[in-house]
This record gives sequence, structure tokens and C-alpha cells, in this order.
Amino acid sequence: MVKCSYCGKPAVYINKVGNIAYCRQHFIEYFEHKARKTIRKYNMIKPGDHVLIGVSGGKDSMALLHFLLKLKKKMQRLEITAVLVDEGISGYREKTIPNLVNYAEKYGVKYIIASFRDYIGATLDDIVKTSFQNNLPYMPCSYCGVFRRYVLNKVAREINANVIATAHNMDDIVQTYLMNLVSNSWDRIVSLGPVRSSSEEYIVKRIKPFYELSEKETALYALLNNLIQPDFNQCPYVKYNIRFTIRKLINELEDKYPGSKYGLLRSLLNIINMQNKFKIYEKKYKTCLLCGNPSSHSVCKACLFRAKLNLLNTEQYNKLAEITSSDTEVARALKS
Ligand code: SF4
Ligand code: ZN
Repeated sequence: MVKCSYCGKPAVYINKVGNIAYCRQHFIEYFEHKARKTIRKYNMIKPGDHVLIGVSGGKDSMALLHFLLKLKKKMQRLEITAVLVDEGISGYREKTIPNLVNYAEKYGVKYIIASFRDYIGATLDDIVKTSFQNNLPYMPCSYCGVFRRYVLNKVAREINANVIATAHNMDDIVQTYLMNLVSNSWDRIVSLGPVRSSSEEYIVKRIKPFYELSEKETALYALLNNLIQPDFNQCPYVKYNIRFTIRKLINELEDKYPGSKYGLLRSLLNIINMQNKFKIYEKKYKTCLLCGNPSSHSVCKACLFRAKLNLLNTEQYNKLAEITSSDTEVARALKS
């Protein structure tokens, strides 16, 4: 039996890169220390912040909620609210909602359930149906990602949260990095840093405290803290997402060559540093003329999607017609 490198108790985790074994207690200490270090290194949170945590009820986001709640005990005047975005995916989301609700009620965490139906005007299931019927060229995860960001921003503004924390870990980040390399989307690659902030007041700062922790480590932290629900289903739209092929490839690479994921993360951080220095892919943010959310164009991607899905109201369609008459970029995006 492998023993903990620190105390000799049975190990629950071995870090292959440094060849260090951890028992339960030392693993939790290692995990929390690393997440706290990331928060400090990138100035993610300060006393007085109101942090909105995007929680799905799954292992990663429950781990983040649990960790930030522990941090709140040490940090004065830190306000925390959890938000679960219910996309409306039947047979999937209704299983993860009780996980958040039970936890939040047990530990007295403020929480909000914000549904696509209320904020977008339709469930993701309805959106996917309309999209296929109308032969729109988008996959379910494209709508899901854009609308989820939209809802998180809206909720943050509604409750005056000044930070949005998400549970993206190192695996998520390097997968997204490679996905965007495949599609040659450099403007997206340079936005994959641990923090996204802006001097513009309407842009809520976004942070990823698990940026340097792996998916395996996050899952183990959730397991050791009893945060994983037993009957977890996969989202039925997973099969449309390139992420899962890329995930398999990266995991194979890591198995053969331990440290590959961290190497990819470092190369991404180098690119981001170069971007910060030379500002090659600088985006200018405005507010969307239809919804007020941050956008690089005069109409945001969520509103463009909503327009194509017949989900705007008459007043918004009239406003959009007015915008497209003078803004060729928006007119083109609407037709594509
Ligand atoms: Fe949304 Fe796609 Fe994830 Fe399903 S797999 S929850 S559709 S991003
Ligand atoms: Zn908008």
C-alpha cells in the first residue's frame, strides 16, 4: 500500500509529476492551499467582495462552493451567493438541482435558481428543437455556453455581485485552449486566463480559482468532502461537443507523458502574457443595445441567437431592425 509522503497514513492520491503521495487530510490541505495560492497570485478576491458562484450541482462546482465557503470563514466581509443556471435539459438538470439545494440549506448559503425559460424565453430542449427544425448551423453546446454566460452576467448585475467565480479546472482550460486552436480562434484563446476583468464597471470580473488544479484532483476533493451525488447522468447533448474527443486525447497524452497538461497550461499562459504585452487581439467592449450585457459588437451573441430563434419581443425586433439598417456587421451576423 502506498503511504502518504508526509505522515505515513494510507495514500488516497499520488501526484505523478512530483511523485508525492497524500493521505486524505494532506490531500485536502494540498488542494485548498493551491486554490488559495491561485486566488492570491492573481488577486481574484478581496475583503468586501460579493462573489456569485456558478454552480451546476455537479462535482466541480460543488467543490468550488465548499472551498469558497471555507475561505469565507477566514476572510472578513466576503459575501457569497450561489447561482444554478437551469438550462432546461430534461432528465439531466433536475437531478443536479437538489444537490445544490440540499447543500445550500444545510450550510445556510444564499442561492438562486435562474432558468433559461425565465431569462432567455425557452428551455435548451426547445431551443435545440427549433434550431434543428430551422436548420440553424449551431450545436446545442454553442447555445448553452452563450446563454449561460448571459444569465450569469444578468444575475450578477441584479444582485450587485462584483465577481463571478466558476469551477473551471486545468483540464477544462487546456481542452478549451486546444478546441480554439483547432478553430483558429485566437481572440478566444487570449481570454482564457485565470481572471477576466475590465475597468468598465458593467463588466463583472470573472475568476477561476481551480485554474491550476486538475479535474482528477477536483473530483477527489469533492468525493472526500461527500459532495458527489450517486446517480449522476451525463448531459444528452454531450455527443455534439468536440470537447469530449479532445479530452480523451489530452488524457492519453497525460497518461503517457505526465505533466503534459501543465505544459499546455504554461504555454497558454505565455500566449496570454504576450497578448497583455503586445495587445494583438484587443477587444473593445460596449454594452449590447438590446439587453445591456457586455458585448464586443453593438448586439451581443445571446441577443443574436435569440433573434434567430424568434425569442425577442416586438419592441426588441423593432430596435434590432433599426440597428441593422446602419450597422452592417450586425446585419451580416444576423444573416449568417
Ligand atoms: Fe450545456 Fe453542452 Fe454541457 Fe450539455 S454538454 S450542459 S449542452 S455545454
Ligand atoms: Zn444582448
